[in-house]
Amino acid sequence: MIKYKLTCKDCSCQFDSWFASSKEFEKLKISKYLNCPSCNSLNIDKSLMAPSVLNNKTSNKKFIEVKNKLKEYKKFIKNNFDYVGENFAHEVRSVHYNNKKRKKGIYGNASTKEIKELKEEGIETEIIPWVDDREN
Ligand SMILES: [Zn+2]
Repeated sequence: MIKYKLTCKDCSCQFDSWFASSKEFEKLKISKYLNCPSCNSLNIDKSLMAPSVLNNKTSNKKFIEVKNKLKEYKKFIKNNFDYVGENFAHEVRSVHYNNKKRKKGIYGNASTKEIKELKEEGIETEIIPWVDDREN
């Protein structure tokens, strides 16, 4: 059995699913048996996985170093920015269009679709890799 992290390309929802083999995944996808649990879209693909095991000690050490930097970065963002959660796209627009003043920058969750839309509206956002603190 293989566990795949799947991403819905329409709503960017992510979910895990088990398959007998990678061939079974392709087969189910082609026969349209794979659909998104949140929007029912058939536009499903495998997510890119972060490398969990690197095969030599040096790169593994480097990987942990980079990961710790990301954790520091995350901490900095948490301390200096306001978290707006799922409202991110909405809040960014209100700052952009209504000249709404905020003491701090904001961060939150946005789908790739929302980020693309913001970009089309001329609003630049930055995507940061969010490492899970509970890992390791
Ligand atoms: Zn979906």
